[in-house]
Amino acid sequence: MKTIEDLDVAGRRVFVRADLNVPLSGGTITDDGRIRAVAPTIAKLVERGAKVVVASHLGRPKGEPDPQFSLAPVAARLGEILGRPVAFATDTVGESAKATVAALADGEVTLLENLRFNAGETSKDDAERGAFADELAGLADLYVGDGFGAVHRKHASVFDLPARLPHAVGDLIATEVGVLKRLTEEVERPYVVVLGGSKVSDKVGVIDNLLGKADRILIGGGMVYTFLKAQGHEVGSSLLQEDQIPTVLDYLKRGEESGVEFVLPVDIAISGTFPDTRTQAPVEDFAVVGADGIPAGALGLDIGPSSCALFAEKLADAKTVFWNGPMGVFEHPAFADGTRAVTQALIDSDGFTVVGGGDSAAAVRILGFDETKFGHISTGGGASLEYLEGKTLPGLAALEG
Ligand code: ADP
Ligand code: MG
Repeated sequence: MKTIEDLDVAGRRVFVRADLNVPLSGGTITDDGRIRAVAPTIAKLVERGAKVVVASHLGRPKGEPDPQFSLAPVAARLGEILGRPVAFATDTVGESAKATVAALADGEVTLLENLRFNAGETSKDDAERGAFADELAGLADLYVGDGFGAVHRKHASVFDLPARLPHAVGDLIATEVGVLKRLTEEVERPYVVVLGGSKVSDKVGVIDNLLGKADRILIGGGMVYTFLKAQGHEVGSSLLQEDQIPTVLDYLKRGEESGVEFVLPVDIAISGTFPDTRTQAPVEDFAVVGADGIPAGALGLDIGPSSCALFAEKLADAKTVFWNGPMGVFEHPAFADGTRAVTQALIDSDGFTVVGGGDSAAAVRILGFDETKFGHISTGGGASLEYLEGKTLPGLAALEG
């Protein structure tokens, strides 16, 4: 793979595919980690006199403009971080984008509007994606892939565009891949993996591969309930993926055979309704129950205090830790304790600790922890998991040639 240093960028339009998909609450950025993570790449290109055209997706708009997913607040924040103005194009490949890019002087930066406002970005149809990539290619002379959180997506700006322009890998992706290599090649043991979050089906797959590598797998977040159900317990109205139960049973059996220890929570924090994470209104019916005693109708929303202690103990001697997915609905203070406990256990560990996942990384910072206390905080959850699963990532493959 070529790096930025291999490109002659001075005076040329350089398209930087970044992942600026930050959490927003009513137009306010609640965690700017992903913006800060790619800023050094942009700054380096500015320094070398490039005309920098930054592009990203934000959220999941449906292939057409949708103001709630506008990147406008991100342009402002990127400008603050870079300490220089960032011109914002109000479309991605339309009149505004063309005019803004044409007006760039050497060392100036523009951010295009959300790539996913165009159906071609995420299309499954090669021709439709290709046509959009052609339009994007018209805006630049060179391509730098640095949107690590999106490299597992076969999207126009990630996969098709680098085939159309001389390209290089950005510094963020290079760092991320270096860390993941360390988790797949010579791992220092015990190697403990903590899995949580809400995208259960995305995450169950990684366990298959980890069964051959990890020593211990701790299960929290929304995945817990599929495991508990598989063990014959009632899970009320908690997140559940019935269709994954046979897979989970197979994992538990294989874990036992191969000596990989699965650690499930022993108690669960529940409520009858999903908490209001915006107003953070107190949860009137908060309760902690045994993991085998979730009442019908209740929602499991965090691991309980005994589970926090158990997880901390299982992390204490780890030499390598990979953590993806919050332990509970940490966006509400009533259900943040599990995530806080795991974060603290990673900080206390003297092993190499990696946090992966947009929400997990945001949680660490929103809960007020010092991000320098970790070995690495990855900007990509799905991307990290697919890498660890041994899959070929389209956005990395595209940067190879
Ligand atoms: P990441 O972005 O780190 O990969 P995910 O996107 O998979 O993580 O999951 C993050 C989300 O999971 C958070 O918004 C959190 O509220 C949610 N979550 C965690 N535990 C539960 C649970 N028990 N029920 C519902 N949602 C949960
Ligand atoms: Mg997420």
